[in-house]
Amino acid sequence: IKKGAKKAAKAAKPIHWAGVLGAGIMGGGIAYQAASRGTPMAMKDIKPEALDLGMSEASKILLKGVEIGKITNQQMAKTLASITPTLEYSTLKDCDIVVEAVVENPKVKDSVLCEMESVLGDKAILASNTSTISIDLLAKNLKRPENFCGMHFFNPVHKMPLVEVIRGKKTSEETIATVVAWASAMGKSPIVVNDCPGFLVNRVLFPYFHGFSLLLRDGADFTAVDKVMEKFGWPMGPAYLLDVVGLDTAVHAANVMAEGFPDRMKKEFKDAIEALYEQKRFGQKNGKGFYAYS
Ligand code: NAD
Repeated sequence: IKKGAKKAAKAAKPIHWAGVLGAGIMGGGIAYQAASRGTPMAMKDIKPEALDLGMSEASKILLKGVEIGKITNQQMAKTLASITPTLEYSTLKDCDIVVEAVVENPKVKDSVLCEMESVLGDKAILASNTSTISIDLLAKNLKRPENFCGMHFFNPVHKMPLVEVIRGKKTSEETIATVVAWASAMGKSPIVVNDCPGFLVNRVLFPYFHGFSLLLRDGADFTAVDKVMEKFGWPMGPAYLLDVVGLDTAVHAANVMAEGFPDRMKKEFKDAIEALYEQKRFGQKNGKGFYAYS
């Protein structure tokens, strides 16, 4: 990874000003991470309350940093001031790179990406933080697919080192090099992967969730499964992890995986968590999922 990052740094274009579309769990995290590593960020959402939440999450992480003496109050204020919340695409028009992190729905992403591309400069890079949707599918209606790739962060962004950089059929080497270098500058460990539904990590993770859903169907108690997986050595069990991811995002992503791999990803996973999803138990983001949060 280090060798690849050095090579990428040479071919990469500089990033002076960047944007993120969506101020949710991931968009807020990406804005915080990039801003804290020196890239001023614009963060766009369609809801003012989502922008407020994104900014307050960033403040919470920074405050923790101040409390443990990792950063000063001035550094905290500087980072927060370098994130510009906005409801307008036009605020992002001069960005060198924009990462899309809206809901995991191909149609919504398609329209958001096309709208963003239409106001960006010709040289700007667009990236998607999609968990599962094929990059070639998302590139289909873009005018400059060479400037587009996947940039898949993991949750919580400020803690998880891995970033999957996904190469679509038409993605240029310069785009890949720039995104790899920017991810490295953010303190992350990027890996370049080819395009397919779920890329690398979610092709491993979703069959695991699928196995978990089959256990639930067979009558297992989810709290017991979580405890066993923790004893096995994993930082958290599958039910808690699904609450962290967001059950709405997980259902959308499971649909993409089931369509992409119909022979391997049958619909039981969806059945097992759909009841929670339909009751709007989305997980930690709204205080209730498998577990309740206060
Ligand atoms: P989220 O529900 O927390 O946030 C989505 C945000 O997008 C919301 O604030 C919503 O208001 C906003 N939004 C919706 N339509 C928009 C539009 N047209 N323009 C701008 N903003 C819009 O979801 P999330 O968990 O942050 O997921 C976002 C993306 O990141 C998805 O593609 C998801 O698959 C991916 N992802 C999620 C995780 C995870 O663990 N949650 C991990 C990696 C990648």
